[in-house]
Amino acid sequence: MNDLKLKIKNLNFFLSEAKKGMYAIGHFNFATEDMLRGIIEASRDAGAPAVMVGTSEGEAGFFGIKEAVALVKTIKEDLNYPIFLNADHFKSFEKCKEAIDAGYDSVIADGSKLPNDQNITLAKQVVNYARLASAKRSEVGSINPDISVEGELGYLKGASEVQAKIEISPADYTKPEEVADFVARTGIDRMAVVFGNIHGIVTDQEEKLDIAHFLKIITAEPKPYYVLHGASGLKDEDITAAIQAGIVNVHFNTELRVAYRDAIDKTFHEKPNETTPYKYLAPAVEEVKKVVVQKIKLFMGK
Ligand SMILES: [Zn+2]
Repeated sequence: MNDLKLKIKNLNFFLSEAKKGMYAIGHFNFATEDMLRGIIEASRDAGAPAVMVGTSEGEAGFFGIKEAVALVKTIKEDLNYPIFLNADHFKSFEKCKEAIDAGYDSVIADGSKLPNDQNITLAKQVVNYARLASAKRSEVGSINPDISVEGELGYLKGASEVQAKIEISPADYTKPEEVADFVARTGIDRMAVVFGNIHGIVTDQEEKLDIAHFLKIITAEPKPYYVLHGASGLKDEDITAAIQAGIVNVHFNTELRVAYRDAIDKTFHEKPNETTPYKYLAPAVEEVKKVVVQKIKLFMGK
């Protein structure tokens, strides 16, 4: 095995390539094996250089943290394709540690709902632990020793579902003057920021990004890899503008869930007596794959 090559190709390497090339690496959530495979196959087929797959605390609880690591590892080896498993919005040090210990490639230490100093303390604690774990993994010669850590600043509202309306206020946006201090004190690799984005999809209002605000953030602190959360429901041109402004990682969840659910719903309407899981799940995975292909093309600027 080519150790050198494998060591270079960690997540931060792919994000730095995306930064140079002005494109973005996709991040998609999964809670089931079929959806995970669909996301990965579609990303590879659409020509994404790498893909991030994530589990929220809830999704990880359903799937199993160790099981997620084992399955991602198996698929990665089978396909020889760079897949990075991310602990998405893990909210305590204990949960982040559990994911790192199990073998996740990446964690989001999300203390954004905490007071600023506590958010910094959490992110720093997770970064320190991840660095230690990375060093240990290098010693035993694991494939991907570098764990990438993301912090979050600003109030990202919503949940990964379809809602009628969410109050979006510039008061919740990430404050450009706070980012440099956060990065310096925590040592995080990636930064989730708020500039009009919300989690989930809202039906009764237009979702719109404030690109000028993001430019203030990235100008004030250009170092970290900037991440856009809650891209479901945004217009393609808003996502493209965010990538052109410096976003290198885009999170998609709700649109995949809707595609999956609607396809299962359609199958049961057409075939109410269908009981074979792989028969009613297969069309749902195909719909998820279509969405992923479309998003990868958008992220790559194709
Ligand atoms: Zn998110």
